[in-house]
Amino acid sequence: KIRTRIAPSPTGDPHVGTAYIALFNRAFAKSQGGEFILRIEDTDRTRSTPESEAAILKSLKWLGLDWDEGPDCGGPHGPYRQSERQSIYQEHAHRLIQDGHAFHCFCTAERLDEMRKERQAQGLAGYDGHCMHLSEDEVNRRLADGEASVIRMKVPEEGICELEDELRGTIEIDWKQIDMQVLLKSDGMPTYHLACVVDDHLMEISHILRGEEWISSTPKQLLLYQYFGWEPPVFCHLPLLRNADKSKLSKRKNPTSIDYYHALGILPEALLNFLGMMGWTMPSGEEKFTQREMIDNFDVKRVSLGGPVFDPEKLDWLNGRYIREDHTPEQLMDRMMAWKYNREYVDRFLPMVQQRIERLSDAAPLAMMFFQGLPSINAASFEPVKLDEDELKKTLQLILWKLETQRHWNKDNVMADVKAVGDHLGHKMRDIMAPLFIAITGQPASVSVLDAMAILGPDMTRGRIRHAIE
Ligand code: ATP
Ligand code: GLU
Repeated sequence: KIRTRIAPSPTGDPHVGTAYIALFNRAFAKSQGGEFILRIEDTDRTRSTPESEAAILKSLKWLGLDWDEGPDCGGPHGPYRQSERQSIYQEHAHRLIQDGHAFHCFCTAERLDEMRKERQAQGLAGYDGHCMHLSEDEVNRRLADGEASVIRMKVPEEGICELEDELRGTIEIDWKQIDMQVLLKSDGMPTYHLACVVDDHLMEISHILRGEEWISSTPKQLLLYQYFGWEPPVFCHLPLLRNADKSKLSKRKNPTSIDYYHALGILPEALLNFLGMMGWTMPSGEEKFTQREMIDNFDVKRVSLGGPVFDPEKLDWLNGRYIREDHTPEQLMDRMMAWKYNREYVDRFLPMVQQRIERLSDAAPLAMMFFQGLPSINAASFEPVKLDEDELKKTLQLILWKLETQRHWNKDNVMADVKAVGDHLGHKMRDIMAPLFIAITGQPASVSVLDAMAILGPDMTRGRIRHAIE
């Protein structure tokens, strides 16, 4: 049975890269009559949040990438959230110790630092194997004394790991380059590698399609399959999405959050189609295709390894085609109402608009920014601002960075962030609010910018500030 999965870590905004990988996993599974599973990899307890998990699930659903098994709908191989599977990983880590494939490591952070420096000087990478040679008695004594320890995997000292990739053929990696990876941390939490292998096996995943950034992790994972005596899945490393300059897609150059494209008024079917064009083409060469058509024609061998460029202009072009070709005016009206032209959304800002108008016809200009994408602004728009150009850019950039780390988006928190940047730069709140106002509203006058930021949400707010700096 063909089974694939998407395994996002809920540590940030729902990334278009996650949707791209999910689409290819789903298309492959469904083209073979198989199943597609969603698993949440939240073993990094400090960075994972329930808000991020909920946002990822919601945006994948919005795109139409629904799954057969997952944390929300359950399934025969649950739980599907790694934080709820701790005892399974502990059991497996201990099994590796018993079979001589892993060992307890008591090295302190200080010793590891020293060791790394020394080994780096000698051109060596990774752990030196110090605790691998401790006697069983000593290990038991130190464990009984309650000394903190992690569990590390053993790695061959020499030789070559040959990994088969569906798209790339055989990839050879020297075992010397592979670290004796920590599998279980001192708090009993697994690291990614252990949890991923154990889950992919227990969840009966047959094919792993994931980003090429994981190629260097695959030798460790193959070794774990071998240690456990399990058949490894088929690996297929997909090309990463790129910025126009071919660097890895990054939010410094392109918005990467799915929510941003939703706020911009991109239709989910257009975004999904666009992601399907990343490194893949229909046999007919047709650029506009549905997920169903992609599934019906899917062949993983058609994935091209040249880095696919995430080109927002192409996305706009495709979205325009969907708007014009797939909707009657009535249907388009329904889509607009579902998006932002609805009572629930308008109710959020109408009270503020009401305080500032004398005629009903005054409302639309004031409210425009709530429906817009990126406002058209240029250097002249910032003329009323007191700060010079460099100072202005620096201020907006610092606000942007600060807001990028804001996990609880509301007016008070946004204000606190803006104020913190003002204090740091020694600017008065008034001087810092003026450029922000223009960046967000695109207008010389409108409703309160902090309220507007709260309503526009993190993605559109950051998108507009980024746009103002460009
Ligand atoms: P940024 O550089 O914008 O901060 P990132 O790599 O830090 O991005 P993560 O939060 O680490 O982003 O990634 C979230 C998810 O998106 C991961 O599953 C990652 O594999 C995927 N992802 C990130 N960048 C890309 C990309 N360029 N192509 C495909 N998938 C990507
Ligand atoms: N949790 C990893 C991620 O965030 C999964 C990597 C994999 O697919 O093995 O992308």
